[in-house]
Amino acid sequence: MTLEGTLLAGYGGFYYVLGQDGARFTLHAQSKIRREKLKPIVGDKVRFEPGQNGEDGWLIAILPRANRLVRPAVANIDALVITCSAGVPEMDRLLTDRLLILANSNRIEPILAINKSDTEPETASEIAREYALSGAKVFTVSAASGEGLDELKRALHGKTHAFAGQSGVGKSSLINALYGLGFEVGDISRKIERGRHTTRACTLVPINGGAVLDTPGFSLMDSDMIEPEKLRLYYPEFAFLNNECYFTPCCHDREPGCEVKRRVEDGLIPRGRYERYITLLNEYRERWQKRYD
Ligand code: GDP
Ligand code: ZN
Repeated sequence: MTLEGTLLAGYGGFYYVLGQDGARFTLHAQSKIRREKLKPIVGDKVRFEPGQNGEDGWLIAILPRANRLVRPAVANIDALVITCSAGVPEMDRLLTDRLLILANSNRIEPILAINKSDTEPETASEIAREYALSGAKVFTVSAASGEGLDELKRALHGKTHAFAGQSGVGKSSLINALYGLGFEVGDISRKIERGRHTTRACTLVPINGGAVLDTPGFSLMDSDMIEPEKLRLYYPEFAFLNNECYFTPCCHDREPGCEVKRRVEDGLIPRGRYERYITLLNEYRERWQKRYD
């Protein structure tokens, strides 16, 4: 008899799997999987033989992945809760835009949670306006007052999701306020450490009809090697406008007759999002040129 389930954690040669009926199993990996270097990662949908009393089963196969991130190593994430603060610390919009690219380029649903709306409600509305067309579902929330939490929880129901964003914006506070999981506030969050090796085992915690990843630190390395010409595709504000620009394809940069630039001038596309797109486009171009160095 074989079953299917989701890999929640793996340590010391053991794999902890949640079966479809909610039962938990501890498995070993078959040597075939070890030989083929198919390293199972958290979030993998797997096929397994259950063994006795949930112990001593065997992981037989890893099913195809919808997506996979390298740091942390996790597969099949449905939604990324990009968290920012309307108060302190001041929002890092470039980082938010990078996380949107990470989500969009991996076919992960982006959700923007504007936290600490209790401290600066007007800033929260301004952020919501700037990101209204970004493709992210936008929620104005407060882990402190509880504002918007029911709506956010409903949007996350049934999904495997992770929180990402600057340190101090309230990711652990939100996870606690939503789910009461008892994550340590101010402790588990780490700054996004680009390029630095932060290998730390991550775990999926079943909750809210889905699961939440216990690791809010995300490396942006995973989207570093996008072709500069493709960056525009991850901006829903103007991805669809390509045929209306004079040149096709148009990077919406220096090209004449660019419909995106016209819409920015007319106030139809938020200028901040466009200007940071150009900053990122130049960064991606530079990195692309040096990619074989
Ligand atoms: P993380 O680093 O993103 O996990 O952020 P934490 O959850 O550790 O929160 C950082 C600080 O912000 C803590 O002192 C929290 O009490 C505070 N905080 C979190 N959410 C809110 C909120 O909605 N409103 C206010 N006023 N403070 C908050
Ligand atoms: Zn254009």
